[in-house]
Amino acid sequence: MDLNYIDEGKILKIFTYPSPILKKIATNVEVFDDELKELCRNMLTTMYDAPGIGLAAPQVGISKRIFVMDVEFDRKEVTAADGQTKYEIVDRKPLIFINPVIKNKEGQFKYEEGCLSLPGIYDEVTRAKKITLEYQDLEGNKKEIEAEDLFAVCIQHENDHLDGVVFIERLSMLKKNFFHKKLVKRKKMYSDSP
Ligand SMILES: [Zn+2]
Repeated sequence: MDLNYIDEGKILKIFTYPSPILKKIATNVEVFDDELKELCRNMLTTMYDAPGIGLAAPQVGISKRIFVMDVEFDRKEVTAADGQTKYEIVDRKPLIFINPVIKNKEGQFKYEEGCLSLPGIYDEVTRAKKITLEYQDLEGNKKEIEAEDLFAVCIQHENDHLDGVVFIERLSMLKKNFFHKKLVKRKKMYSDSP
């Protein structure tokens, strides 16, 4: 995909926990049209803007089986004309997965995860180390990819969003309840303020 094309996308609203959309099971994409391309482009723009390494459609309020990802980009410090320090996204490798299905899981890998829908929450989750993923591209072509370590973790995290699961639900009941209370309280604080 043309990288300039990504910058032209819109920044979408990211829904945060405990928003009901994050609990819904997303449905398969049936139509591979321009609307789908536009959604994926907007999701990538939103992900890089956040910045995050992955974003699933339910996180932007669309209950469809789509996620976008880039586990390789870097942020470069640049000095703007007004002398302020800004960050520029470099070395992008945007990926789009439509109707993904995890076919094979091997080994174990522990990684400290975060999520754009659970701001400020980070914890270690154990997932499979190596996976095989079947998916479709923007044209509807069937593809398969093997992923390991961080790449595999990110796919499993994003795929969970399509099944209405956020990563704190992969933690112990104690931690899950702790984070749930913290996030609900924070949400209330925000909605009470003008
Ligand atoms: Zn997430």
